[in-house]
Order: sequence, then C-alpha cells, then structure tokens
Amino acid sequence: MIVIIGGGISGLAVAWYLQKKGIEYVLLESSERAGGNILTEKTDKYLIEKGPNSLLADNEVQEIIDEIGLTDRILYPESVSKNRYIFKDGKYRKLPAGPAFLFSDFFSFNAKLSVFKEYSNKSKGDENETVASFFERRFSKEIVDNAVNPFVSGIYAGDPEQMLIRKTFPQLFDFEKEYGSIIKGFLKTKSSSGRRVSYSFHNGMQEIPDQLAKSVNIKYNSEVQSIEKGEKFIVKSNSGEYLADKVILSLPAFSAFEILSTLASSEISPLNNVHYPELAVVHTAFKKADMQAVPNGFGGLHPKKAGLYTAGCMWSSCLFPVRCPEDEFLLTSFVGGSQFEQEISYDNDTVRQNVTNELKRVYEIDGEPVFQKIHRWKKSIPQYTQKIDAAHEVLESLEKQDIYHTINWEGGVSIADCLKKGKALAEKIEKNMNK
Ligand SMILES: Cc1cc2nc3c(=O)[nH]c(=O)nc-3n(C[C@H](O)[C@H](O)[C@H](O)COP(=O)(O)OP(=O)(O)OC[C@H]3O[C@@H](n4cnc5c(N)ncnc54)[C@H](O)[C@@H]3O)c2cc1C
Repeated sequence: MIVIIGGGISGLAVAWYLQKKGIEYVLLESSERAGGNILTEKTDKYLIEKGPNSLLADNEVQEIIDEIGLTDRILYPESVSKNRYIFKDGKYRKLPAGPAFLFSDFFSFNAKLSVFKEYSNKSKGDENETVASFFERRFSKEIVDNAVNPFVSGIYAGDPEQMLIRKTFPQLFDFEKEYGSIIKGFLKTKSSSGRRVSYSFHNGMQEIPDQLAKSVNIKYNSEVQSIEKGEKFIVKSNSGEYLADKVILSLPAFSAFEILSTLASSEISPLNNVHYPELAVVHTAFKKADMQAVPNGFGGLHPKKAGLYTAGCMWSSCLFPVRCPEDEFLLTSFVGGSQFEQEISYDNDTVRQNVTNELKRVYEIDGEPVFQKIHRWKKSIPQYTQKIDAAHEVLESLEKQDIYHTINWEGGVSIADCLKKGKALAEKIEKNMNK
C-alpha cells in the first residue's frame, strides 16, 4: 500500500499512473478540493485564474493530456499571444523575436553582438553560479536587465541574483558543459522533444486536476499530521490512520517539514529553509471605452529597474477573449515575488488601489475598474536558490527509507514538469516492485 500526501497536480499525476498500473494507493489531501496551486474561479461574466494560467506542452506532456482525456477541452490562446512586451524607457516595447532581434532597437548593438559571440564564448562558471551571473557571463548585463530579470520574475516570482542556474535551468547549465554554448545546445537538440505549445482549457486550468481527481482514490479533508515508522509507516491524518509500505510526498517543502519532524532522525531543517515568496494575483477589468488604446499581445513584464509597483501584467482579454464581456478589458497583475517583497507588504485594499493606480497611469485609462479581485499566495513558488541544495539532500536520504517524492521544489515548478515527474515516479515504483 502506498500513501501519497498532497492532492495538487504532482500528487494527482502519480496517483493517476499508479491507478493505471493497478498498484494500490490512497491520496490524502488536506483541503476539500484537488489542484493545490491550480485554482480557477468562474462567475457568470468572468473566468479568472488565481494560480497558473497555462500549460506549456511538449510531445510528452501532450501524450499525458491525451491519455487523461482532455484533448477536446484544450483552449488555445489567440495568436497575438506571441507578442510579448517589456516595460523599458517608460513604456511597453515589444520584445523582438527571430530575425526582428537584429533589426529592432530594443537591444543595443553590443547586446546583439554578445548573442553572436556566445557561440564561441569559452568562459566558465561554477556550481553555485546564479542565473544573473550565468547570463551576464555568456551574454551581457543588458540582456540580464531587460530580458532575463523580467522573465525570471514573471515566471518564477524569482530573483535571478539568487537563483542557481544549475537548479533553475539545468538544461542551459548542461548545454554549456556539453557544447560550450547554449545556442549550440539549442540548435543540436532542437527537435528532440517537439515544438512546445502553450494552452489552457475551456473551463480553465482547474480542468486538469478535476479530470484526474474523478478517477483516482483521493480522500479530501485529510491533513496529514505525522508519519511514524514501525514495521510499516503509520500515516496519521485527521481522517484516520493509514498503514503504508511506501510514502510519496507531493506537498510543499514547509509542509513536508511539519509532518516529518516526528520521523527523521537525520537533519530535516533544510526543508523549512526553502524560500516561498509571497505573491498576489490581481484581476482587474476596465471598460474598453475608457482606455486610450487597447493593448494587443500576451502582456508586459516589468524589469526591476523599471521601478513599477507590479512585477508584470497579462492581457487576459487578448489571450482568451471569451473570459470577460466583449466591451471590457481584463488584466491579470502580479504583485510580490522575491524581487518585490516590499510591494506585497501592504494589506489587500492598498495593494488593489496601487494596482489600479498603476494600470490607469500606464495604460492611460480614464474610468474606474468595473471588476477587481485579489488572491494572495502567502507562500507561492519555491525558489531554487542555494538553500534548495540541502533540501534535495534530505530528499535523497528519505528515498533510501522508502519515502519518495514528486514535488515542485525539485526538477521544475511548471505543471508540465509536475505531470512528467508524477508519471516517471509511478514507473520507477512499478519497476522497483517487479525486481
Ligand atoms: C500564482 C502562480 C502562478 C503560476 N503560473 C504557472 C503557469 O502559468 N504555468 C505553469 O506551468 N505553472 C505555474 N505555476 C506553478 C505551478 O502551478 C505549481 O508549481 C504546481 O501547480 C505545484 O503543484 P504541486 O502539486 O507540486 O504542489 P501544490 O499545488 O502546492 O499542491 C500541494 C497539495 O498538498 C496539500 N497539502 C499540504 N499539506 C498537506 C498535508 N499535511 N496533508 C495533506 N495534504 C497537504 C495542499 O493542500 C495542496 O493541495 C504557478 C504557480 C503560482 C503560485
């Protein structure tokens, strides 16, 4: 018997594949719903994502989506989503992609040159090199400030000066080691995992956990308090005790720390040191008639040095126009994350007002919002900084004691990564059982 702890996408994915293989398990979830960070809210007029907005699927992830029966439910964003903007020199400027990179004046001549020189850049970093230092060494500071910084802040709520390149972008780290250049690495491995496509679902991202939860053995309102080791594991939860031969952790590092404190003789404190910055997601709709110009694209990222209050803003109306009334424009703003901790230190009313003021100023909007909602993640996305190394060592030692894991604080935070890791763990467990 296997007990899986945590019914977010990671726990659901491993449960789904164990179920498919006929391996006995139970999935314990502390709340009354499945999905964890995946949290869609639908009202009669709006569909908003309080957590993830989209799934980036390569061939393997697409196979998983096919297998779980969600292919017909896919909702692709409008093609304008290819246009990404960065706030630079006091306004949004389109981030040049493809050949436009050469001709646009977004980057200086020297920054463009650094991209060509990367191919033959022989410099080397060390195991503890940060994302910022890696990109500055291989490209230039300008690329870090105007592309890497807002990207890392927008996707990971992170700070490139703190995050490790080896843990955050292991593929790029390996490309440098193997090919001596990340551009060379990309060109050599271009088609191996297929083209990646980003999408959501008609009823939002919540469709993935809802679909998985329909066919797995999940027990809600089952918060695990402790795991004790006797002949078998005794997993104590507020819905009862469960005897297990193996345990799978699929919950945040700080929650794993809480439930393991009665078990592990080894030092587990590193689990409590993984940093999860606070982040607020604020949805705001304005009447289009009140806007000087209606933007057209995926959204805008805000480099720290741009000095804005929000870390970035998605133009949700452009991506999925069906998700708000036709005469309105829906924006999703992000406040907080590792680089904006001061900005998220205010109460909800102040954060909302600050967001409204900034949106009105930047987008030249005359009227007031017709809709606004805030969701605060007290602990949002785990940061792959130097502190995560010690936490990963704890995981290794736990696995030797039959406590496995599939989590977003190792091996990638994206939903795509979590789906793949859940599937891989079920395969590994099946293999071990057949030995
Ligand atoms: C605001 C935000 C935006 C994001 N945007 C994107 C995006 O656009 N695309 C993307 O790919 N990824 C995105 N991510 C990342 C991605 O959503 C998460 O990394 C992923 O959903 C994490 O899933 P998980 O199952 O590992 O963990 P969680 O979702 O944290 O699930 C853990 C589960 O464990 C349960 N639990 C905790 N303690 C206990 C206990 N003691 N007993 C039992 N159960 C317990 C919790 O209730 C929860 O359901 C975003 C994340 C956030 C926060």
